This record gives sequence, C-alpha cells and structure tokens, in this order.
Amino acid sequence: MAVRLILSDIDGCITPEESAAWDWEHFSRFVGLVREASAERSTLAPMTLCTGRPQPYVEALMKVLDVRFASICESGAILYSLHDNCSRLSPEITPERVRGLQALRNHIVTEVFPDFPGLVYQFGKEAQISLYCEQPACFPEVERRVAAFAATVPNLDVVITPSHLYLNIDLPGVTKGGAIRKLLGDLGISRDEAAGMGDTLGDLSIREEVGFFACPSNAVEALKRVADYVSPYPNIEGMLDILGRPELHRG
Ligand SMILES: [Mg+2]
Repeated sequence: MAVRLILSDIDGCITPEESAAWDWEHFSRFVGLVREASAERSTLAPMTLCTGRPQPYVEALMKVLDVRFASICESGAILYSLHDNCSRLSPEITPERVRGLQALRNHIVTEVFPDFPGLVYQFGKEAQISLYCEQPACFPEVERRVAAFAATVPNLDVVITPSHLYLNIDLPGVTKGGAIRKLLGDLGISRDEAAGMGDTLGDLSIREEVGFFACPSNAVEALKRVADYVSPYPNIEGMLDILGRPELHRG
C-alpha cells in the first residue's frame, strides 16, 4: 500500500540534537526534496513533523519545508496547522493539569536548578516540560527529584522520558503516537499508509502508529530493533538516505 504521509521527528533526525549550527549542505538538499513532495512534483510522499519542540519552532520549520499537513508539537500535546495558523491542545490536557505542570516548573527552577548548574529549561512550551543538559549523566537524579515533587501535586501524574540531551516531562496519555492516531483518523489515512522516522525512546510511539518506520544510525538501540529500516548514516545524511527508500514513494 502506497504511503500517503511521512511523520518525522526533528532533533537527531533532520537537525543535530546538540545546540549547534545545522549541516546546511545536507539540510538544503533535504528541504528541496520535501518541498517537491509537498507540491506533488515528485513520487515522494508528503512529510509533516512530529516532535517535542514547541509550536513556534515547528511553525518556522514548517514554513522552510513547505509542510502542508498539521504538525505534532510538544510530543503530542499540540497539533498545529499552518493554513489557519491554529494550535489545538490534545483533549487530555485540562487547565488543572496545566496548573500542576506550572507548579512543577516553579519547583524545578527554584529547588532543582541550583544543584545542577548545566541544566537548562526550554522556553515556549504549553503542556510539556523539557530540560536540556550537555551532561545527561545527571538525568537519573534530576528525574528522581522531579518525580518526587510531582507526586506531591494534587491530580498531577507525569511521564518522564530522556532523549540524548533532553529530559521530557509529559502528561500521561499524551504521546506522539496518540496524536498521530488522531491526525491520521481526521485525514482518513490508514496506519499502513503512514511512515515515520525517529531516533529516541519517545519515538517508539511513532513506530506503533505507522506501517513503515525508519531511523538514522544515531538512533537508540531499542528503536533500531523495531525499525523496518536503519540507515547506515547518521542524522540528516541518514534522513536523505531514508527518503530514497522505495517504501516512501508512489508507484
Ligand atoms: Mg529526536
């Protein structure tokens, strides 16, 4: 069955996870391929984004790539469409749970940060907390302290997932996979007509919702084991390799 939509993670796939300048030569080739697919000038299926990044970051990248389908932001908490400039919160996100997350954020910034000087709070998110650190060895201890405080906040359950350099704190039931299921349902696209790419544990839920899943060589082992194709190349070079796969093309 021909793939009608490709859902791709951003960090560790299209762009480096490190806070560094992008590989422009490969990135510009990638932009060309994705734009041609969006305009139906090639056999490649169109692409949209499925990421932990906040909506404003995703919006900018959607404009660069000419993404015409809704994109998934904040690991499934927000669905954003460019044509009407509209962000929609996942139904699991209630005002009470958002207030709980705000209390958790305040605790992290005032009580946890002083003990971990390399830890950075990622601004711009509505319903997810992401912490960045170039020395992720601190994550297990940070995770323990975040979980201990979250347990004291009424009606706040959280799911904590590390990627390479980020610690993501999500509300339960909010996943990339859940948002993909809703998006595909709205579009009338079946699981077998969807493909996905990712590199870290948070992308396992992408794998579950698509018929074909691929990852670059820098992906974590647990994801490589369940992928249909693992590129021998890392990051954006791996993505260019994956876009050449026949499974992602019509006819
Ligand atoms: Mg990633």
